Amino acid sequence: MEKILNYINGELIAPAKEQWLDNYEPATGKIYSQIPDSSEEDLQNAIEAAEKAFQKWSNCGHETRSEWLLKISDAILENSTDLIKAESKDNGKPEKLAEKVDIPRAAANFRFFAKAASQFASESHHMEGEAINYTLRRPLGIVGCISPWNLPLYLFTWKIAPALATGNCVIAKPSEITPMTAFLLSKICKEIGLPKGVLNIVHGSGSNIGQSLVESSSIKAISFTGGTQTGKKIASIAAPQFKKLSLELGGKNANIVFDDADLEKAVAASVKSSFANQGQICLCGSRLFVQKGIYEKFKSAFLEKVERLEVGDPTKKSSSLGAIVSKAHLEKIDQYVQLSKELGGKILAGGKKRNLSGRCADGYFYAPTIIEGLDAYCQVNQEEIFGPVVSLIPFKTEEEVVEWANCTEYGLSASIWTSDLNRAHRTAEEIQSGIVWVNTWLLRDLRTPFGGMKSSGVGREGGWEAMRFFTESKNICIKYR
Ligand code: NAD
Repeated sequence: MEKILNYINGELIAPAKEQWLDNYEPATGKIYSQIPDSSEEDLQNAIEAAEKAFQKWSNCGHETRSEWLLKISDAILENSTDLIKAESKDNGKPEKLAEKVDIPRAAANFRFFAKAASQFASESHHMEGEAINYTLRRPLGIVGCISPWNLPLYLFTWKIAPALATGNCVIAKPSEITPMTAFLLSKICKEIGLPKGVLNIVHGSGSNIGQSLVESSSIKAISFTGGTQTGKKIASIAAPQFKKLSLELGGKNANIVFDDADLEKAVAASVKSSFANQGQICLCGSRLFVQKGIYEKFKSAFLEKVERLEVGDPTKKSSSLGAIVSKAHLEKIDQYVQLSKELGGKILAGGKKRNLSGRCADGYFYAPTIIEGLDAYCQVNQEEIFGPVVSLIPFKTEEEVVEWANCTEYGLSASIWTSDLNRAHRTAEEIQSGIVWVNTWLLRDLRTPFGGMKSSGVGREGGWEAMRFFTESKNICIKYR
């Protein structure tokens, strides 16, 4: 059975204690590889390697770092066929989605921050006739990047790239549920000869190696994406150390369709925003608010499209939805659907596990599910399900829908569908979330700030925000008169 290895000091190595975790293929339910259950000793080795590399890497100049990042980006594209297949096998997502979204974006992350490294500048403040202040930004040192399973290589590289671009050395931990493309990335970095210790990738569970990474006083910042509960735990450990933290957490995003929306576009995009990646994108719209005037029309068009979605083997081109990432997550999704029924919800589509045959007979599949009849304040519409489940809620007025959109503890993203420009601006301003899309969904410009409000996170990623996060600013004041 294939063994995934840690990447420490430029080498691919087994965990010091030789302890391993099983890695499952969600589409078949079978173990197909093993990953290091890394321990403190592995982390110490990674820290030592990073400390040794830091002096040179942080001083080699932005052009050199930029070139390395471009080399990684190119190598990702050259290896994209393997990466696409690996991402799909490890996560359960359709290969065609990994081909369209995950792998190109991983390459784009490195390309984007390679360019950012060459453009990054800091401010100066002139005190007329007396002095000049300039802001010096220096890398933090060794930083930790921890990522989740839903967009494995995409989110892993979204953190690593700006950290490296700004001159930090990195210890990164992918999700233990989807470790494979991180392993392939380490092979790529070894192959292109990335300087030793600049990037180290340690595998293992969150409660073990993940937490050790957060606890370590050698790690100057943690960039984390994952669940809100984990984020709370990480913050409780990092805060007393005054460690810099970026937390991208859960969501319960509102997708709002007004009477005057372009119905065809709103329906098509809502199918995607509800069910892409089996509903396991933090930006998926899990609460679909539709204004009463078009509710019935929208509902029947939406249902018709959802019923045509094929749940199938992720390797097949015809599959719109692949497998849910794990058995435990499949059960969690099903429990929420059962709870919806107990709360009086009506299942308009799906509502159950989907049994496939052949190689996928033991895989973790769930039918795209639409629930109707639950009010905005009930448990199912308040808590994150993170699966192919959407709750359809009619609304009367703009005030009502803004109140409902804002009535959860989360505030990650929202979409608004309307042809009224003033209403679009008004509601976008009122909605408490880090991103609001108007007449679109998941359209991303990597220069923009990305992150959540309330329990969806602290800090912002993307563009200068990420470059600033991974640097410490210092004001230097020079009196000249
Ligand atoms: P998770 O919180 O269980 O795990 C995320 C990562 O944290 C994994 O690598 C895990 O091993 C690690 N981890 C777990 N416990 C840890 C600890 N005590 N200390 C340090 N590390 C620890 O999340 P998940 O189930 O992998 O991902 C799904 C969640 O991620 C959802 O809530 C989703 O909304 C969220 N998410 C948010 C965004 C965003 O940008 N806001 C993007 C994607 C996913």
